[in-house]
Amino acid sequence: MNIVQCQFCRKPFAGLGGRTCPECQEQMDKDFITVREYIYENKHANIDVISEETEVPKRHIIHLLKEGRLILNSVDDSGGGVIFCEVCKKPIKTGRMCKECMVNVSSVIDRNIPDRRPQQSARPSSSDQSVAKLGK
Ligand SMILES: [Zn+2]
Ligand SMILES: [Zn+2]
Repeated sequence: MNIVQCQFCRKPFAGLGGRTCPECQEQMDKDFITVREYIYENKHANIDVISEETEVPKRHIIHLLKEGRLILNSVDDSGGGVIFCEVCKKPIKTGRMCKECMVNVSSVIDRNIPDRRPQQSARPSSSDQSVAKLGK
């Protein structure tokens, strides 16, 4: 087991892959519910207001946004971003990338998978003949 430093409280703990200690993880889950409820009631509140009203630290909210667990609807309205696309640096509402970059990345991944298409030309099939008949 590795001893890692918690990214929030800086306390060393025995990590199992994550960088958040069990106490902070528990707090984060509570914060998630608090913030989610608040955003549900106040759809266009920005992060400063959310943090103030819910008493959840901003960095916890940002962490939850990056994990894709929360969506910040105020991004479009205020113009000011809290989290940014890791590729084009555009302000985004949730996750790590904007929609456009996500599409680009997944199409790059698609192209890198060899032989994804069924090899129709390789096998002589009777279905080709039936298609030809239907055409007439
Ligand atoms: Zn911690
Ligand atoms: Zn982007």
